[in-house]
Amino acid sequence: MSRVGVLAVQGAFAEHERSLGRLGAECFEIRKAADLDRGLDAMVIPGGESTVMGKLLRDLGMFDRIREMIDGGIPVFGTCAGMILLADGVEGGTEHLATMPIGVRRNAYGRQLGSFSSRGVFDSGAEIPLEFIRAPMVTRVGDGVRVLCECGGVPVAVRYGNQLATSFHPELTEDDTVHQYFLDMVRGRNPL
Ligand code: GLN
Repeated sequence: MSRVGVLAVQGAFAEHERSLGRLGAECFEIRKAADLDRGLDAMVIPGGESTVMGKLLRDLGMFDRIREMIDGGIPVFGTCAGMILLADGVEGGTEHLATMPIGVRRNAYGRQLGSFSSRGVFDSGAEIPLEFIRAPMVTRVGDGVRVLCECGGVPVAVRYGNQLATSFHPELTEDDTVHQYFLDMVRGRNPL
């Protein structure tokens, strides 16, 4: 069974625990630096407010440790604000981990479209619901990044080695396709 640490300093972490729990993963919450030593096979960085989350990671002494763990190969799944934290280029800037070669623009879907629902094909397979809440838009996809899902011709799910990021929120739906994909990554069943 995979042990997934869900970053729980801010944002929608409980929803990820619910989705992962449905799939049989064991979750625990990362609230302070010592939690990073509890033995984790993978990490989730949830949606929330990326500026606040980035600052809290600094204040709590976790920022560099988490970046090292990701660079060292720990599988990580970032949703929305989590995607912003992983991106190496952020318009509308904030402190970010910069482990994934993608560019994002914060809150880029506009005021009217700040929150909206759509559907898209994930990894050439199932059609899944896409829930966007003041989402970042992916504006650049670097070498080695695979686009797993698009919405309106814009990448909304990307994978770079051990890193998975979505601008939408699969944890807010009952569809576990993306979380299952992540757990398959963790278990080495989904190599890139
Ligand atoms: N707008 C938020 C940010 O810029 C992200 C929103 C979300 O995670 N739902 O960090």
